[in-house]
Amino acid sequence: MENFDLNYSLKKTKRKTLGIEVNHQGEVIVTAPDYIPQSKIDEVLAKRMKWIQEKVAEKKNNLNTQPKRNYVSGEALYLFGRQYYLKVIETNYENVEIDHNRITFYIREGESAKRVISEYLLNEFKAMIFHMADECLETFSKKYSISTKPKFKVRKMAKRWGSCTKDGIINLNPMLVAASVECIEYVIFHELTHLLHDDHDDEFFRTLKSVCPKFKELKERLEKETVLFE
Ligand SMILES: [Zn+2]
Repeated sequence: MENFDLNYSLKKTKRKTLGIEVNHQGEVIVTAPDYIPQSKIDEVLAKRMKWIQEKVAEKKNNLNTQPKRNYVSGEALYLFGRQYYLKVIETNYENVEIDHNRITFYIREGESAKRVISEYLLNEFKAMIFHMADECLETFSKKYSISTKPKFKVRKMAKRWGSCTKDGIINLNPMLVAASVECIEYVIFHELTHLLHDDHDDEFFRTLKSVCPKFKELKERLEKETVLFE
């Protein structure tokens, strides 16, 4: 077999088929059933190498176009899918004003703009999630019965927008504050679906589609929107 150089993480699952996924950071994640031998995994990877390489290149290219944030005036700031121009004014009080496409932070002299702005974004996100999560949960539980009411938490994660634990804790990445409301809803529905299905199998996507019909389009949009924000 052709020798290839590929870094990937391997996740063993109960699913019956082997899955290959390239996340937004260009990392390759292979999910495979416990019993599949390494030689079989290598074979499938070799077969799909062209696709994998293209995907990795595409995601890395997206990441490279991401501007570095310095939290200074003139920079773009993304809030719920909208772009604003940032203005930072040093004064002797703290305040935030939003006017059309401009967002102005009044900060105390010597205070870190990064700290103030990050804290503001985090609070905005928490406030939004507080309502949205309940609405999505209501929609979801009208269709499907779930044994325990999930608990939503905001948690920084390096590689994922959301996660769902076995005991029903749904974590949402605060970076989602840059994404539009529809895309955040998609993430919530995706994680709610994990309450019923562990793996991304056909059943999973059928359930997800029934509560979030545009999930495919939203997933793509989400990657584009959030790449602009880190
Ligand atoms: Zn998932």
